[in-house]
Amino acid sequence: MQFTQVVGQSMAKERLVTMFKDNKLSHAVMLCEKPGYGALPLVLSFISYMLCPNRSANDSCGSCPVCNRTGKMIHPDIHFVMPVNTTKTISSDKKPVSDTFLQEWREVIIKDPYFTEQDWYNKIGIENKVGNIGVNEANLIIKKMGLMSYEGGDKFMFVWLPEKMNQEAANKLLKFIEEPSEGTYIFMITHAPEKIIPTILSRCQIVRIPPIGLDELSGELMEEFDLSGDEATFFARISGGSLVRARELMFDTQIMQQHDIQLGSLLEGCASKDLSKVIEFWEEISATNRDNQKMFLEYALEFVRMALMLSKGLPEIANVPPSKMKQLLYWSEKLKPSFYGKAYDILNQALEDVSRNVNSKYIFADLGNRFFLSL
Ligand SMILES: [Zn+2]
Repeated sequence: MQFTQVVGQSMAKERLVTMFKDNKLSHAVMLCEKPGYGALPLVLSFISYMLCPNRSANDSCGSCPVCNRTGKMIHPDIHFVMPVNTTKTISSDKKPVSDTFLQEWREVIIKDPYFTEQDWYNKIGIENKVGNIGVNEANLIIKKMGLMSYEGGDKFMFVWLPEKMNQEAANKLLKFIEEPSEGTYIFMITHAPEKIIPTILSRCQIVRIPPIGLDELSGELMEEFDLSGDEATFFARISGGSLVRARELMFDTQIMQQHDIQLGSLLEGCASKDLSKVIEFWEEISATNRDNQKMFLEYALEFVRMALMLSKGLPEIANVPPSKMKQLLYWSEKLKPSFYGKAYDILNQALEDVSRNVNSKYIFADLGNRFFLSL
Protein backbone atom coordinates (compact mmCIF):
# COMPACT_ATOMS: atom_id res chain seq x y z
CA MET A 1 0.00 0.00 0.00
CA GLN A 2 1.19 3.53 -0.71
CA PHE A 3 0.64 6.86 1.02
CA THR A 4 -1.24 8.03 -2.07
CA GLN A 5 -4.03 5.63 -1.06
CA VAL A 6 -4.49 7.40 2.28
CA VAL A 7 -7.20 10.07 2.34
CA GLY A 8 -5.68 13.29 3.74
CA GLN A 9 -3.48 12.86 6.87
CA SER A 10 -0.49 14.54 5.26
CA MET A 11 0.77 15.83 8.64
CA ALA A 12 0.61 12.40 10.27
CA LYS A 13 2.33 10.87 7.26
CA GLU A 14 5.08 13.45 7.36
CA ARG A 15 5.54 12.98 11.08
CA LEU A 16 6.04 9.22 10.69
CA VAL A 17 8.43 9.59 7.76
CA THR A 18 10.44 12.24 9.60
CA MET A 19 10.69 10.10 12.75
CA PHE A 20 11.96 7.25 10.61
CA LYS A 21 14.50 9.39 8.71
CA ASP A 22 15.75 11.03 11.91
CA ASN A 23 16.07 7.67 13.64
CA LYS A 24 13.51 8.72 16.22
CA LEU A 25 10.96 6.01 15.57
CA SER A 26 10.37 3.90 18.62
CA HIS A 27 10.13 0.12 18.31
CA ALA A 28 6.63 0.16 19.75
CA VAL A 29 4.26 2.76 18.35
CA MET A 30 0.64 3.21 19.42
CA LEU A 31 -1.54 5.15 16.98
CA CYS A 32 -4.72 6.51 18.55
CA GLU A 33 -7.62 7.41 16.29
CA LYS A 34 -11.39 7.31 15.95
CA PRO A 35 -12.75 4.76 13.47
CA GLY A 36 -12.48 6.00 9.91
CA TYR A 37 -9.61 8.46 10.31
CA GLY A 38 -7.37 6.12 8.31
CA ALA A 39 -4.63 4.89 10.68
CA LEU A 40 -4.76 1.43 9.10
CA PRO A 41 -3.88 2.44 5.52
CA LEU A 42 -1.47 5.00 6.97
CA VAL A 43 0.51 2.40 8.92
CA LEU A 44 0.46 -0.16 6.12
CA SER A 45 1.77 2.48 3.71
CA PHE A 46 4.41 3.42 6.24
CA ILE A 47 5.58 -0.19 6.63
CA SER A 48 5.73 -0.50 2.82
CA TYR A 49 7.76 2.70 2.77
CA MET A 50 10.18 1.37 5.39
CA LEU A 51 10.65 -1.90 3.52
CA CYS A 52 10.78 -0.67 -0.10
CA PRO A 53 14.36 -0.66 -1.45
CA ASN A 54 13.39 1.89 -4.13
CA ARG A 55 11.46 4.34 -1.98
CA SER A 56 11.48 8.01 -2.90
CA ALA A 57 11.71 10.75 -0.27
CA ASN A 58 7.97 10.53 0.38
CA ASP A 59 6.59 7.14 -0.60
CA SER A 60 7.35 3.53 -1.49
CA CYS A 61 7.81 2.81 -5.21
CA GLY A 62 4.69 0.64 -5.43
CA SER A 63 6.10 -1.62 -8.14
CA CYS A 64 9.14 -3.53 -6.88
CA PRO A 65 8.83 -7.17 -5.68
CA VAL A 66 8.81 -6.04 -2.03
CA CYS A 67 5.99 -3.55 -2.69
CA ASN A 68 4.16 -6.30 -4.53
CA ARG A 69 4.28 -8.47 -1.40
CA THR A 70 3.40 -5.69 1.05
CA GLY A 71 0.55 -4.62 -1.26
CA LYS A 72 -0.93 -8.11 -1.23
CA MET A 73 -0.40 -8.41 2.54
CA ILE A 74 1.79 -11.48 1.96
CA HIS A 75 5.18 -10.11 3.03
CA PRO A 76 6.51 -12.83 5.38
CA ASP A 77 8.02 -10.32 7.82
CA ILE A 78 4.76 -8.50 8.49
CA HIS A 79 2.61 -10.27 11.07
CA PHE A 80 -0.97 -9.25 11.66
CA VAL A 81 -2.93 -9.45 14.88
CA MET A 82 -6.59 -8.50 15.12
CA PRO A 83 -9.55 -9.38 17.34
CA VAL A 84 -11.19 -12.70 16.46
CA ASN A 85 -13.61 -15.17 17.98
CA THR A 86 -15.22 -18.50 17.27
CA THR A 87 -17.54 -18.80 14.25
CA LYS A 88 -19.97 -21.39 12.94
CA THR A 89 -17.13 -23.28 11.29
CA ILE A 90 -14.32 -22.50 13.73
CA SER A 91 -15.25 -23.77 17.16
CA SER A 92 -13.41 -23.07 20.40
CA ASP A 93 -11.49 -26.37 20.30
CA LYS A 94 -9.76 -25.03 17.18
CA LYS A 95 -8.54 -22.08 19.27
CA PRO A 96 -9.02 -19.33 16.68
CA VAL A 97 -6.20 -16.81 16.37
CA SER A 98 -5.51 -14.07 13.83
CA ASP A 99 -3.76 -16.44 11.45
CA THR A 100 -6.97 -18.50 11.22
CA PHE A 101 -8.55 -15.54 9.45
CA LEU A 102 -5.54 -14.23 7.54
CA GLN A 103 -7.14 -14.78 4.15
CA GLU A 104 -10.24 -12.79 5.15
CA TRP A 105 -8.00 -10.07 6.59
CA ARG A 106 -6.12 -9.72 3.31
CA GLU A 107 -9.34 -9.63 1.34
CA VAL A 108 -10.97 -6.98 3.47
CA ILE A 109 -7.94 -4.65 3.36
CA ILE A 110 -7.28 -5.08 -0.34
CA LYS A 111 -10.92 -4.39 -1.11
CA ASP A 112 -10.96 -1.23 1.00
CA PRO A 113 -8.72 -0.33 3.96
CA TYR A 114 -11.43 1.89 5.46
CA PHE A 115 -13.65 -0.48 7.37
CA THR A 116 -15.12 -0.72 10.86
CA GLU A 117 -14.68 -3.23 13.64
CA GLN A 118 -18.20 -4.46 12.88
CA ASP A 119 -17.35 -4.86 9.16
CA TRP A 120 -14.50 -7.10 10.23
CA TYR A 121 -16.72 -9.24 12.46
CA ASN A 122 -19.25 -9.55 9.66
CA LYS A 123 -16.52 -10.61 7.27
CA ILE A 124 -15.35 -13.48 9.48
CA GLY A 125 -18.86 -14.43 10.58
CA ILE A 126 -18.85 -13.65 14.31
CA GLU A 127 -21.56 -11.00 13.95
CA ASN A 128 -23.16 -11.27 17.36
CA LYS A 129 -20.01 -11.64 19.36
CA VAL A 130 -17.11 -9.31 20.03
CA GLY A 131 -13.61 -10.24 18.93
CA ASN A 132 -10.74 -10.50 21.35
CA ILE A 133 -7.00 -11.00 21.45
CA GLY A 134 -6.27 -13.83 23.83
CA VAL A 135 -3.32 -15.52 25.42
CA ASN A 136 -2.92 -18.06 22.58
CA GLU A 137 -2.38 -15.13 20.28
CA ALA A 138 0.13 -13.55 22.67
CA ASN A 139 2.13 -16.79 22.81
CA LEU A 140 2.12 -16.95 19.05
CA ILE A 141 3.32 -13.35 18.74
CA ILE A 142 6.28 -14.04 21.03
CA LYS A 143 7.13 -17.19 19.11
CA LYS A 144 6.89 -15.55 15.69
CA MET A 145 8.84 -12.47 16.64
CA GLY A 146 11.60 -14.66 18.05
CA LEU A 147 12.20 -16.11 14.59
CA MET A 148 14.75 -14.75 12.16
CA SER A 149 13.53 -12.28 9.57
CA TYR A 150 12.62 -14.18 6.39
CA GLU A 151 13.89 -11.53 4.03
CA GLY A 152 16.80 -10.38 6.17
CA GLY A 153 15.34 -6.93 6.94
CA ASP A 154 13.14 -5.56 9.71
CA LYS A 155 10.20 -7.51 11.15
CA PHE A 156 6.83 -5.98 11.86
CA MET A 157 4.00 -6.79 14.19
CA PHE A 158 0.82 -4.98 13.29
CA VAL A 159 -1.83 -5.08 16.02
CA TRP A 160 -5.26 -3.76 15.15
CA LEU A 161 -7.35 -2.80 18.20
CA PRO A 162 -5.07 -3.80 21.10
CA GLU A 163 -7.88 -2.71 23.46
CA LYS A 164 -9.42 -6.11 22.70
CA MET A 165 -6.51 -7.82 24.42
CA ASN A 166 -7.36 -9.53 27.69
CA GLN A 167 -5.30 -9.01 30.82
CA GLU A 168 -3.47 -12.31 30.55
CA ALA A 169 -2.42 -11.65 26.96
CA ALA A 170 -1.38 -8.10 27.78
CA ASN A 171 0.78 -9.30 30.67
CA LYS A 172 2.46 -11.84 28.45
CA LEU A 173 3.31 -9.19 25.89
CA LEU A 174 4.62 -6.57 28.28
CA LYS A 175 8.22 -7.65 28.20
CA PHE A 176 8.20 -8.15 24.46
CA ILE A 177 6.82 -4.64 23.94
CA GLU A 178 9.34 -3.21 26.35
CA GLU A 179 12.37 -4.84 24.79
CA PRO A 180 11.61 -5.99 21.27
CA SER A 181 14.47 -7.81 19.57
CA GLU A 182 16.71 -5.85 17.23
CA GLY A 183 15.05 -4.84 13.93
CA THR A 184 11.55 -5.41 15.25
CA TYR A 185 8.74 -2.88 15.07
CA ILE A 186 5.35 -3.09 16.71
CA PHE A 187 2.60 -0.86 15.38
CA MET A 188 -0.69 -0.82 17.25
CA ILE A 189 -3.84 1.02 16.21
CA THR A 190 -6.35 1.74 18.93
CA HIS A 191 -9.82 3.28 18.93
CA ALA A 192 -9.98 3.27 22.73
CA PRO A 193 -6.61 4.01 24.41
CA GLU A 194 -8.40 4.34 27.77
CA LYS A 195 -9.13 0.60 27.64
CA ILE A 196 -5.49 -0.40 27.23
CA ILE A 197 -3.60 -1.24 30.39
CA PRO A 198 -1.33 1.69 31.34
CA THR A 199 1.78 -0.50 31.53
CA ILE A 200 1.45 -1.21 27.81
CA LEU A 201 0.61 2.38 26.87
CA SER A 202 3.56 3.75 28.80
CA ARG A 203 5.95 1.54 26.81
CA CYS A 204 4.78 2.91 23.45
CA GLN A 205 5.46 6.01 21.45
CA ILE A 206 2.00 7.57 21.12
CA VAL A 207 0.96 9.07 17.79
CA ARG A 208 -2.45 10.72 17.70
CA ILE A 209 -4.18 10.62 14.34
CA PRO A 210 -6.47 13.61 13.81
CA PRO A 211 -9.79 13.59 11.90
CA ILE A 212 -9.40 13.75 8.12
CA GLY A 213 -9.25 17.39 6.96
CA LEU A 214 -12.51 18.79 5.64
CA ASP A 215 -11.22 19.52 2.13
CA GLU A 216 -9.58 16.12 1.69
CA LEU A 217 -12.61 14.25 2.99
CA SER A 218 -15.10 16.18 0.88
CA GLY A 219 -12.82 15.74 -2.15
CA GLU A 220 -12.85 12.00 -1.55
CA LEU A 221 -16.66 11.94 -1.19
CA MET A 222 -17.14 13.95 -4.37
CA GLU A 223 -15.04 11.45 -6.26
CA GLU A 224 -16.46 8.32 -4.64
CA PHE A 225 -20.12 9.23 -4.89
CA ASP A 226 -20.17 11.81 -7.62
CA LEU A 227 -21.55 14.43 -5.21
CA SER A 228 -21.75 18.17 -5.66
CA GLY A 229 -19.29 20.24 -3.62
CA ASP A 230 -21.93 21.39 -1.14
CA GLU A 231 -23.30 17.91 -0.54
CA ALA A 232 -19.82 16.45 -0.09
CA THR A 233 -18.87 19.23 2.35
CA PHE A 234 -22.08 18.63 4.31
CA PHE A 235 -21.37 14.92 4.78
CA ALA A 236 -17.70 15.56 5.51
CA ARG A 237 -18.67 17.97 8.26
CA ILE A 238 -21.31 15.85 9.97
CA SER A 239 -19.05 12.80 9.86
CA GLY A 240 -16.55 14.50 12.17
CA GLY A 241 -13.65 13.72 9.81
CA SER A 242 -14.28 9.97 9.52
CA LEU A 243 -14.55 8.40 6.09
CA VAL A 244 -16.42 5.34 7.35
CA ARG A 245 -18.94 7.47 9.22
CA ALA A 246 -19.46 9.71 6.17
CA ARG A 247 -20.22 6.66 4.06
CA GLU A 248 -22.55 5.27 6.70
CA LEU A 249 -24.48 8.51 6.84
CA MET A 250 -24.76 8.64 3.08
CA PHE A 251 -26.08 5.12 2.78
CA ASP A 252 -28.24 5.13 5.84
CA THR A 253 -30.63 7.91 4.90
CA GLN A 254 -32.91 6.60 7.64
CA ILE A 255 -30.52 7.80 10.35
CA MET A 256 -30.40 11.23 8.76
CA GLN A 257 -34.17 11.42 8.43
CA GLN A 258 -34.54 10.38 12.05
CA HIS A 259 -32.10 13.07 13.18
CA ASP A 260 -33.88 15.62 11.03
CA ILE A 261 -37.21 14.79 12.65
CA GLN A 262 -35.74 14.83 16.18
CA LEU A 263 -33.97 18.13 15.68
CA GLY A 264 -37.07 19.60 14.03
CA SER A 265 -39.30 18.61 16.92
CA LEU A 266 -36.80 19.96 19.46
CA LEU A 267 -36.61 23.32 17.67
CA GLU A 268 -40.39 23.46 17.11
CA GLY A 269 -41.02 22.57 20.75
CA CYS A 270 -38.67 25.33 21.92
CA ALA A 271 -39.96 27.93 19.46
CA SER A 272 -43.62 27.30 20.31
CA LYS A 273 -42.84 26.89 24.04
CA ASP A 274 -44.31 23.42 24.01
CA LEU A 275 -42.33 21.67 26.74
CA SER A 276 -43.97 18.28 26.13
CA LYS A 277 -42.37 18.14 22.67
CA VAL A 278 -38.98 18.88 24.19
CA ILE A 279 -39.42 16.14 26.78
CA GLU A 280 -40.49 13.72 24.08
CA PHE A 281 -37.30 14.60 22.20
CA TRP A 282 -34.93 13.98 25.07
CA GLU A 283 -36.62 10.78 26.14
CA GLU A 284 -36.36 9.40 22.63
CA ILE A 285 -32.75 10.36 21.91
CA SER A 286 -31.44 9.33 25.32
CA ALA A 287 -32.80 5.82 24.76
CA THR A 288 -30.55 5.33 21.69
CA ASN A 289 -26.90 4.25 21.79
CA ARG A 290 -23.97 6.60 22.29
CA ASP A 291 -22.85 6.42 18.69
CA ASN A 292 -26.25 7.53 17.52
CA GLN A 293 -26.32 10.32 20.11
CA LYS A 294 -22.95 11.57 18.90
CA MET A 295 -24.10 11.49 15.30
CA PHE A 296 -27.20 13.43 16.25
CA LEU A 297 -25.14 16.09 18.02
CA GLU A 298 -22.71 16.42 15.13
CA TYR A 299 -25.62 16.74 12.76
CA ALA A 300 -27.22 19.38 14.98
CA LEU A 301 -23.95 21.33 15.16
CA GLU A 302 -23.71 21.37 11.39
CA PHE A 303 -27.36 22.36 11.11
CA VAL A 304 -26.82 25.32 13.44
CA ARG A 305 -23.71 26.36 11.52
CA MET A 306 -25.52 26.30 8.19
CA ALA A 307 -28.49 28.23 9.58
CA LEU A 308 -26.13 30.86 11.01
CA MET A 309 -24.37 31.34 7.66
CA LEU A 310 -27.71 31.70 5.86
CA SER A 311 -28.97 34.16 8.46
CA LYS A 312 -25.89 36.30 7.81
CA GLY A 313 -26.57 36.20 4.08
CA LEU A 314 -23.58 33.99 3.29
CA PRO A 315 -25.04 31.07 1.31
CA GLU A 316 -21.75 30.67 -0.56
CA ILE A 317 -19.99 29.44 2.58
CA ALA A 318 -23.02 27.79 4.20
CA ASN A 319 -22.55 24.72 1.94
CA VAL A 320 -26.19 23.72 2.25
CA PRO A 321 -27.16 20.64 0.20
CA PRO A 322 -30.13 21.45 -2.09
CA SER A 323 -32.37 18.94 -0.31
CA LYS A 324 -32.01 20.85 2.97
CA MET A 325 -32.23 24.41 1.70
CA LYS A 326 -35.94 24.99 2.36
CA GLN A 327 -35.83 23.74 5.93
CA LEU A 328 -32.67 25.72 6.69
CA LEU A 329 -33.98 28.94 5.21
CA TYR A 330 -37.06 28.56 7.40
CA TRP A 331 -35.00 28.19 10.57
CA SER A 332 -32.42 30.81 9.64
CA GLU A 333 -35.26 33.35 9.57
CA LYS A 334 -36.88 32.08 12.73
CA LEU A 335 -33.92 31.65 15.10
CA LYS A 336 -32.76 34.62 17.16
CA PRO A 337 -29.20 35.85 16.45
CA SER A 338 -28.30 35.25 20.11
CA PHE A 339 -29.34 31.60 19.83
CA TYR A 340 -26.47 30.40 17.63
CA GLY A 341 -23.58 30.94 20.00
CA LYS A 342 -25.50 29.42 22.89
CA ALA A 343 -26.60 26.43 20.82
CA TYR A 344 -23.02 25.87 19.73
CA ASP A 345 -21.81 25.75 23.35
CA ILE A 346 -24.69 23.54 24.50
CA LEU A 347 -24.16 21.01 21.70
CA ASN A 348 -20.40 20.88 22.20
CA GLN A 349 -20.86 20.38 25.92
CA ALA A 350 -23.28 17.53 25.21
CA LEU A 351 -20.81 15.92 22.79
CA GLU A 352 -18.14 16.03 25.46
CA ASP A 353 -20.51 14.55 28.04
CA VAL A 354 -21.54 11.73 25.71
CA SER A 355 -17.87 10.84 25.23
CA ARG A 356 -17.34 10.91 28.99
CA ASN A 357 -20.23 8.49 29.51
CA VAL A 358 -22.34 10.90 31.51
CA ASN A 359 -25.91 9.61 31.97
CA SER A 360 -27.75 10.12 28.66
CA LYS A 361 -31.03 11.24 30.18
CA TYR A 362 -29.24 13.89 32.14
CA ILE A 363 -27.32 15.13 29.07
CA PHE A 364 -30.33 15.43 26.81
CA ALA A 365 -32.75 16.73 29.45
CA ASP A 366 -30.20 19.45 30.15
CA LEU A 367 -29.75 20.13 26.44
CA GLY A 368 -33.52 20.31 25.90
CA ASN A 369 -34.00 22.71 28.80
CA ARG A 370 -31.16 24.97 27.76
CA PHE A 371 -32.40 25.08 24.18
CA PHE A 372 -35.88 25.86 25.50
CA LEU A 373 -34.54 28.82 27.46
CA SER A 374 -32.27 30.07 24.66
CA LEU A 375 -34.64 30.02 21.73
ZN1 LIG B 1 9.00 -0.72 -3.80
